[in-house]
This record gives sequence, structure tokens and C-alpha cells, in this order.
Amino acid sequence: MSEFVLGVDLDGVCADYNLALSSAVARHRGIDPAELPTEVTWDFAEWGLSREGFLEHHHRAVREDGLFRNAPPIEGASEALWRLSDAGVWIRIITHRLVDNWSHARVVADTVEWLDDARIPYRDLCFLGQKPQVEADAYIDDAPHNVAALRSSGNTVIVFDQPYNRDLPGLRAEGWGLWSASWRIWCPGTPAATTANSPVSTRVPSAWTAVAVPVNDDETPAGQPCLGLTSPGPCWSPCSSAHPSP
Ligand SMILES: [Mg+2]
Repeated sequence: MSEFVLGVDLDGVCADYNLALSSAVARHRGIDPAELPTEVTWDFAEWGLSREGFLEHHHRAVREDGLFRNAPPIEGASEALWRLSDAGVWIRIITHRLVDNWSHARVVADTVEWLDDARIPYRDLCFLGQKPQVEADAYIDDAPHNVAALRSSGNTVIVFDQPYNRDLPGLRAEGWGLWSASWRIWCPGTPAATTANSPVSTRVPSAWTAVAVPVNDDETPAGQPCLGLTSPGPCWSPCSSAHPSP
């Protein structure tokens, strides 16, 4: 069986970058983090940052605050990715992060340690900014420019919901909850397949694939686009506390 490769972004998808950066910026300024708005646009204008100001705080946060070592994991990421991994999905982490000269060793080390601590399963770890250069069957990302670049190359992209991307159309994950409003994981035989996706299951191919289809059931708004992952193999089973190594 061929693996379905899911390209997974880190910042704003698995790691709460904005929360970590707000703590660092507050420390740099000597203020309470609560003074910084949590609903921010992509350029952090709400914090009074210019592009240069953002980069200055980012670089300092990476070096002094261990931004990539200490960022809080986004709730549910580990559990959801383990479900996918257990079901045979190949998790390919794709992140930029190498934007600060002479801190690459720190960034890479902090990233891999963070991934282990956060219990994120993955089989590949790619550091690069041009995400369309990395092949995957579907991607999940929060950055508007990445979503646009990937989609313009013909890729399937799930937008991970953040305040700065709510104008983007198409597939969207409101979070990592298994039954989040617009994103489902299903395969034949699961309750989701039998209750919500019976008509859909007749349309999905017999190999791992991503399909965007409307879903109509009690838990998902009618007509809401949805990504289904399905496989001829065993269905996913609920997470346990003792996972095998990926
Ligand atoms: Mg991101």
C-alpha cells in the first residue's frame, strides 16, 4: 500500500508561535504579555511592530528565549497526528525557521527536541521556505503565502485556522480536534464513515487519497468542504498512551 504523505507545518499549526513570541516580546519590553493582543494580523501590526522590529524580536526570542524549544504545543496536535500515523499516513514536517543567520544549529536542535517533547510523530523533517518544492499528497499550513503558493501549484492544502488567514477559502481545520467543523478523517467501517460518509465512501479510491467533498450530518454544517483520508487498510484506532516509535 502506498503511503499518503501529509505535509505538516509547525508554527501556527503544531506550535503556538504567537503565544511564545508574545511572551518574548513582553519580556524584551518589560511589560505584561496580557498587554499584547492575541488576535493579530500576519505582520503583528497590533503589537506596533514594523517588519524590522518583528525580525529583531524574533531573532532575540530564538536566541535568548528559546522560542522553538519552549513554544507551547497546539492542543490536540500530537493526538491527531498519532491517529493519522497509526493509520499509515506518512507525516512530513515542513517548516521554514532557518531565517536567522548563525543560529541554525540552535534552531534545528531546539526543533527536534521540541518535537520529541511534544510527542509529534514524523518521518521526515524539512527546513525550507519554498514549500511547493517538497512533495506531499496534502498539506496543512497557516501562512497565507504558503497556502497560496501550494494551491497555485495544484496542491491540496488545509488551512489551519488562525486570525490572519480567515479570508482564505477552501479546506479548513478549526483545530486538531478529530471532529472539528470542516475536517474529518474517515475510512470505511468507522462510525464517521457509516453515519456521515456512506455516500462518500462509494466515491473514494481504493488507495490513500485526499478528497474534498461536502459533508452533511449532525456534526458538520451542510455543504461544508471536508477532507477525507481513506485507506483500504485497517482504520485508525483511538490514541493510546503508549505509542510505538514512528
Ligand atoms: Mg506556520
